Amino acid sequence: MNPLSLIPGCRIRHVTPFGQNALVVAVEGRAPHGRCPACRHISGSVHSSSVRHPADLPSFGREVRLQVHVRRVYCHNQACSKQTFTEPLSRLLKPYARRTLRLDKAQGRIGIALGGEPGARLLAHGAIPASAYTILRLVRHQPLPSASRRVLSALMTGR
Ligand SMILES: [Zn+2]
Repeated sequence: MNPLSLIPGCRIRHVTPFGQNALVVAVEGRAPHGRCPACRHISGSVHSSSVRHPADLPSFGREVRLQVHVRRVYCHNQACSKQTFTEPLSRLLKPYARRTLRLDKAQGRIGIALGGEPGARLLAHGAIPASAYTILRLVRHQPLPSASRRVLSALMTGR
């Protein structure tokens, strides 16, 4: 639908308003084949599909709820321990995640700049609400900036 797809690794099927302040964006993986995580064999034989509903960054000032159609694919390698595997969407989501990677990153950065409670108050106005606890959890999972790593390293080694 959108040749400039803004959803990493995915093609947009359709966009539907949800209430007055939200959008549901239905997407599917763009790659015709998947690579088995166990044996690295490539396959495009679809076994089944499922739908995930992770939260994503806002669009047009509205909350976005993705509707990700994920394919389960057969692994045809007879020596492989897996018979099927789920197509990876590693640029968009971690397995079982309820939020996209880029949403985690954006909210984590706001948490680093403002802290938990002020960050939560700001995000409530930006169509990406999160609790203070969630923001602090995301801050703990953010990688340290390179300058901070050098300072930390200097402190630990005494140089
Ligand atoms: Zn396999």
